[in-house]
Amino acid sequence: MTVLIDLNSPARRPAASQPEAGAAASQPDAVAGVAAPVRRSLAGLSRDGLREALADIGVPDRELRMRVAQLFNWIYVRGAVSFEEMTTISKVLRAALAERYTLDRPEVISEQISVDGTRKWLLRMPATGPHDKGAEIECVYIPEADRGTLCVSSQVGCTLTCTFCHTGTQRLVRNLTDAEIVGQVMVARDRLGDWSVPGPNKASKAIQHDDDAAPAGRLVTNIVLMGMGEPLYNFDNVKAAVDTMSDGDGIGLGKRRITLSTAGVAPMIGKAGEEIGAMLAISLHATTNEIRDGLVPLNKKYKIDEVLEACRNYPGLSNAKRITFEYVMLKGVNDSPAHARELVRLLKGIPAKINLIPFNPWPGTKYECSDWDTIEAFSEIVFRAGYASPVRTPRGRDIFAACGQLKSETEKLRARARLMLETGGDPAAEAAS
Ligand code: SAH
Repeated sequence: MTVLIDLNSPARRPAASQPEAGAAASQPDAVAGVAAPVRRSLAGLSRDGLREALADIGVPDRELRMRVAQLFNWIYVRGAVSFEEMTTISKVLRAALAERYTLDRPEVISEQISVDGTRKWLLRMPATGPHDKGAEIECVYIPEADRGTLCVSSQVGCTLTCTFCHTGTQRLVRNLTDAEIVGQVMVARDRLGDWSVPGPNKASKAIQHDDDAAPAGRLVTNIVLMGMGEPLYNFDNVKAAVDTMSDGDGIGLGKRRITLSTAGVAPMIGKAGEEIGAMLAISLHATTNEIRDGLVPLNKKYKIDEVLEACRNYPGLSNAKRITFEYVMLKGVNDSPAHARELVRLLKGIPAKINLIPFNPWPGTKYECSDWDTIEAFSEIVFRAGYASPVRTPRGRDIFAACGQLKSETEKLRARARLMLETGGDPAAEAAS
């Protein structure tokens, strides 16, 4: 059974008298036809972003460091939704902040809760221009006994067109900003009630260690960039978002708890290790270039050998810090015992985990999930080679929640078309942007 809560119904809309409470209220009233400037949200911004926002309202240089630290704590430890509640900040500054900024999150359009506790949110990002109604993305929370994993998106749609992936059927609209990536974590923690309790002890309950035990009191303990999009095609924003999420004075999820999943953009893998430093997952899915070309078209550009070579050189690898190889089980395509043996051979020498993912079918797909016996036989070969518990249990099937097959039904304007609209069809302006 699926519980679908429509958060757009009038009863659930934030009251208009609480300007910081929701995106719907973020546009101050226009006076006599003159549009007032839209207040920007600070929720999701990096330290640098907050610094700029404070400087923009005239906070003197010498105070910036301290003010950023205060805002960072209120936003990322306490989950503040209004400047009013920021009692460690002077009233004057709070008023100045509220005049120019909000703490709006991406708008929650719907929330679905699966029988197994998995939750899926459809979120609408603030509009980027007059002709943008606001891109929609999905975000999934998967609770397990020892952890709670949040699957976030890095782009709206995806350019990769992997043939078994639902997102691949959607046209890319745009990259998400770092604030929009972090905003997904903010929404999940809001909806789950996962912020530190207010009080004199402002300890951030940071999760810096790689302890497998459940960190006390935290519901979102891990983040995977496995939703819509290819994170390595949105490198700078993903890097900034991971920095914000892993900052020990804020959300405090150590980089060992954040996993970046890529279809294999080989030249960016080493750079990701050095500059982002998150855990790495590779969507491998096949053991020959011929099969992988048909599943992950990016393979035509970066072949299996090249991707695995980049993995071998991934900084900091050890048995305690392994690369996860994802392998979606597709009936009659990549699921034979010979494929399993080849997989083991290919990964030799790389500290690796293998995740066998039962294919999650979607309407119109030409693929089927492998039979259970086939998956077991495959898994047995992988297991005998020393890789433990490799089959990922499907979660939230009743709400169509598998990461990587997220898809929103609205706002599918191509980036080009949207730019044309925004620039009034001026090709020069379009080219310059
Ligand atoms: N572009 C990145 C992240 C998004 S996909 C990447 O390719 O890794 C996240 C994961 O979900 C990938 O391993 C992807 O192959 C997998 N996936 C996509 N569609 C799926 C489906 N229908 N069933 C099972 N897994 C799927």
